[in-house]
Amino acid sequence: MTSGRVEALRSALAADGRAASMLVSDPSNIRWLTGFTGSSGSVVVTAGRVLLVTDGRYTDQARRQLDDAGLGDAEVVTAVSAAAMDAEVARLADGEALGAEATRLSHARWSALAEHASPVAADGLLEGLRRHKTADEVAVMERAASIASAALAEVAPMLVAGVRERDIRDELEYRMRCHGADGPSYETIVASGPDHAARPHQRPTDRELCKGDWVIIDVGALLQGYHSDMTRTFCVGEPSAEQLRWYAAVAESQAAGLATVGDGVPAREVDAACREVLEAHGLGEFFIHGTGHGVGLDIHEDPFVARTSAAILHSGDVVTVEPGAYRVGTGGVRIEDLVLVTDDGHRPLTSFPKDDPCPPSPPTT
Ligand code: ZN
Ligand code: ZN
Repeated sequence: MTSGRVEALRSALAADGRAASMLVSDPSNIRWLTGFTGSSGSVVVTAGRVLLVTDGRYTDQARRQLDDAGLGDAEVVTAVSAAAMDAEVARLADGEALGAEATRLSHARWSALAEHASPVAADGLLEGLRRHKTADEVAVMERAASIASAALAEVAPMLVAGVRERDIRDELEYRMRCHGADGPSYETIVASGPDHAARPHQRPTDRELCKGDWVIIDVGALLQGYHSDMTRTFCVGEPSAEQLRWYAAVAESQAAGLATVGDGVPAREVDAACREVLEAHGLGEFFIHGTGHGVGLDIHEDPFVARTSAAILHSGDVVTVEPGAYRVGTGGVRIEDLVLVTDDGHRPLTSFPKDDPCPPSPPTT
């Protein structure tokens, strides 16, 4: 999946014009560029060379993963400590301008680098390249999304009074692994009742579901380093008229956001479309977060879909659309799908039904 990426980085550096070489420190950027998945390492890309500096634990793995990525010419340099790694990188830069990730390097490491090279902040360069997903990447993310959907379909009938949030979480994560996930994409959210469901990122607790609760489930699967992301909201027992009103408003808001997604569309217009619907239903003040984010090797990556976003959506971006409404004492509703931006709109990668907030009934056999 990594072929052509080093050349793409060199082209991006040439277009940027400030440095011909780059030091890459962010683990997801390193993985995207070289296939290396170790927890410790730096990559230096110059006009003619690719070097991966890592410690002895990863020398063998690095060689194997670089070869698998078609980077047989890349060199693996083993360093005994972070300081030795930095010294090695600085030696390679040899006083020249060197692109580096200012938001990833500590002040101490940046200063050490500056003693031997001229680091320039080149943050966002690789993130910009990573935005456009290849067909292979989309296929992996779609598979991850279908794993999460399959797990949720099996677990949703558990959503009855007396079951603990944490047991639902455990069952979801176990079943995602059964379906082939490497693990959960992020800490699975199971947020129930008048208070927990009112917090968009509540962690699952010992709380038992009660009749009349909202339950927000935000679940994704990790597969080959790629993430999926989906939220569905359910009622425990028969939903009240007020609950149906909230659910319909959030569903309409999400549909409006999805209908806006497309190549060349400013991300903030997707956010505005979602917000307008909730405002029309008198729920605007309860929509307390941004509408969505890019997903890939990171669960939150460019482009961000928010009121203040300057991003323009492009064909090949994979983003979420996830409006919600939350009120302490009531609970909340969020509906989130993962979609691929296409030339004529979008293609959903998540597929779990969202017509109404009633969980499917348990099997009767
Ligand atoms: Zn989510
Ligand atoms: Zn999300």
